[in-house]
Amino acid sequence: MTTKRALTVLATAAAAVLTVTTTMTSTAAPARTAACTGYVGLTFDDGPSGTTTRLLDALRRNGLRATMFNQGQHAAANPSLVRAQVAAGMWVANHSYTHPHLTRLSQAQIDSEISRTQQAVRNAGGGTPRLFRPPYGETNATVKSVAARHGLTEILWHVDSQDWNGASSDAIVRSTARLTDGQIILMHDGPANTLAAVPRIAQGLASRGLCAGMISPQSGRAVAPG
Ligand SMILES: [Zn+2]
Repeated sequence: MTTKRALTVLATAAAAVLTVTTTMTSTAAPARTAACTGYVGLTFDDGPSGTTTRLLDALRRNGLRATMFNQGQHAAANPSLVRAQVAAGMWVANHSYTHPHLTRLSQAQIDSEISRTQQAVRNAGGGTPRLFRPPYGETNATVKSVAARHGLTEILWHVDSQDWNGASSDAIVRSTARLTDGQIILMHDGPANTLAAVPRIAQGLASRGLCAGMISPQSGRAVAPG
């Protein structure tokens, strides 16, 4: 057995042990740092919603942390769910207020979409977001500059789970298998197939020594939780 292979086996064994520990304690989101050879950014857009509580439960039970790109209008309507996201160890981010096609709006309208969302998340107790994802991934120089003025780093994705497009749980799990260290995947707070995929997403990442990380506002990539 080569050294590299031996290390992989050790990492897998460590991940398995940590998974068992997680199942038994089920308290705060555990840090699997001992077994992490890399980090990926799991992201869930368009909440908080009627599925947020179940999504947070699934993520916690499976030892995963994620970045929640909330719509400001939903944060304003469900402030307790924003606090629940934070309490579950998630990172709360800005996904515009009403989910418009920002590139069709004036600079003032773009500013309103972004600033009202910052305010709604802050008012809900979610802190001040540092990350921004434009709806539909549609951006341009004006969108970027307005986001930057609010101290936000624009984050798109490396892998699209297609969960918004009716992807099956199997397909969503397969899409997470394409993630490599530092990369980010697009998912949503809503689809039942996404919720159902969470345990197998966790198992697949652990088997590859990958852990769910935070997205760095500096690099725009997934890194170890700070
Ligand atoms: Zn969206």
